[in-house]
Amino acid sequence: MKRVALVFVLAVFVPSLVLAWLAVRSLRDQQFLLERQQSLLYQGVADARAKAVQDALGEYEHAFAAEVASVVGKQSPRDAAKSFDDLLRRDWPLAQVGFAVTLSGEILSPPPYGRNEARKFYTDNGRFLASREMVEVYSNPKQAISGLNVANNAALLNNSAFPNAQPQPQSPSFGQTEANADFNKRSPGSKSQQARNVYPQQQAGSFQKVPAPEDTQQQFSKLAASEAEFRQLIGEDNEGALARFVDNRLNVLFWCRPPRDPQLVFGVQLALPRLIESLRPVVQQVEPALRGEICVALLDDTAKPVALSYPGFRATWKHPFVATEIGEILPHWEIAVYLLNPAWLTQSARALQLTLGLLISVLLVAIGIGSWLIVTDLNRQLKLARQKTDFVSNVSHELKTPLTSIRMFSELLAEGRVTDPAKQRSYLGIITAETARLTRLINNVLDFARIERGEKKYHIQPCDLAEVVRETAETYRPHLEASGFQFECEVPDSALMVNGDRDALAQVIVNLLSNAEKYSDSQKEIAVGLEQRTSPLPYAEVRVLDRGLGVPHGCGEKIFEQFYRAHDSLSSGIQGSGLGLTLARQIARAHGGDVVYEPRAGGGSCFSLRLPLLAQEQVRNPKPVI
Ligand code: ADP
Repeated sequence: MKRVALVFVLAVFVPSLVLAWLAVRSLRDQQFLLERQQSLLYQGVADARAKAVQDALGEYEHAFAAEVASVVGKQSPRDAAKSFDDLLRRDWPLAQVGFAVTLSGEILSPPPYGRNEARKFYTDNGRFLASREMVEVYSNPKQAISGLNVANNAALLNNSAFPNAQPQPQSPSFGQTEANADFNKRSPGSKSQQARNVYPQQQAGSFQKVPAPEDTQQQFSKLAASEAEFRQLIGEDNEGALARFVDNRLNVLFWCRPPRDPQLVFGVQLALPRLIESLRPVVQQVEPALRGEICVALLDDTAKPVALSYPGFRATWKHPFVATEIGEILPHWEIAVYLLNPAWLTQSARALQLTLGLLISVLLVAIGIGSWLIVTDLNRQLKLARQKTDFVSNVSHELKTPLTSIRMFSELLAEGRVTDPAKQRSYLGIITAETARLTRLINNVLDFARIERGEKKYHIQPCDLAEVVRETAETYRPHLEASGFQFECEVPDSALMVNGDRDALAQVIVNLLSNAEKYSDSQKEIAVGLEQRTSPLPYAEVRVLDRGLGVPHGCGEKIFEQFYRAHDSLSSGIQGSGLGLTLARQIARAHGGDVVYEPRAGGGSCFSLRLPLLAQEQVRNPKPVI
């Protein structure tokens, strides 16, 4: 049995636990995967919107060049340059101030004492455009705006037109946000890098993930400002865009040189509110399937939303789910993606975890219960197999004993060696008794086999139980008395009618009498009684009492199990098959009654056969034979 348990532990439990552990692990991976999938999906959305904004800016830049071409096509570039501010603003709505400057540093437009906006522009940018002052700018001379991964501007400048230009840390007075300032204070070593305005959750490790080194890197802006003069900046190029912060306010400038007069540079400072208005539809183009999940926002350089795909949405703007920088033309502006229901990811991950966890638990419990049932059944089968082996040896023994007696006494008689008639009668009596015992045993075994196969047939009909008991007891009496038993039989004279098979009922009584004889010790007293009882329903009770060994404590029910023997042959020396009581109970139950055991007061056993009594009308109209 221990071996079976061990096999089960090794073959079922341990593998199940390992499987459960693997399942729980994969559960954690599933959660991570879900988060990763979502972040990749939304990062794709942010990248696509940022690219769309860049493309739109690129188109505006070309549109500006076309506008310049049309202006200088109608008149000489020099003439056009003088009134360029007015001409441009009239025809191009994105223009806030149009300017024209010669490469030698002469500003032809706007006039220094014109309208307010022009005057301010002149003050802010005059010295820079005249190449008399170096300022920090974000520039894009080669139209890199069409690509998403905008190259580090400083690197570009270093490698090409401005070998002396160095990437500079952005000073707080130059449009740097508080966050940037804080960051630079914290990281004095990383001055050449500028911190981003936003901290995307997927890079800040909000899902209990330790951010990977490359993730941490992404908290820095890909852009860097460079100090340059305007002339250095445009170099040999024909058109371009640049951005600079003046008093923390972003100025975006487009410029181009007409082929007819490359010494002249025409440019424009964009009207930011109108630019934002024109970019709004671009930001709002979110896939319909994702509109219910996310809000896409265009954040300005102070991390304030200027355009939203989901009107009325509120969030902690600095902490989007994912975000992408726009590029040099709108430095520190970002496309940020926010979850409309931030708890959804955690909720669905938890739900998944809970479902799989429950499933695993249920499976484990099922495996546990299944294993227990199998072990119990195996145990039962093993016990039965052992009992069957015992049964075979017991039956063989039981057959052998009467056969030996029969053979011995019949040989004595056959050889004529016993001449005394009294002895002859005694020997013949023994032979008869042993034959009866043999018959009883064989009948029991055969009947048991029939009942097991469901082939046992009873000839049920109304019969007088008192008569059956009396006849059986009287048949058995000579044998008992010959064996020295004091035998009493108290059966009422009146009939007690039951529905039953006479032979089967007689077999039950004989089995009980036989047991009483077998398990009697020195006090050889057996009594049979028949009584009528009325509660709860009228029934007859045949009681077989002895003063023998009694049934050991706790075995009162087990003795009715097949092959079970409370007194085994070895220790008690009493032969038996363990079938007598099983059969007795099965027969009694087939008659609607039962056989029960109770210890007898004063020592010994009391076995009772209880059968329901027939009502008068049932006696008159008997049931058909089964
Ligand atoms: P067996 O062939 O062993 O007698 P039974 O089914 O008739 O098989 O009885 C089952 C067990 O019940 C016996 O082995 C014995 O231990 C116990 N038993 C039956 N009758 C008596 C009795 N009258 N007194 C004591 N024990 C009994």
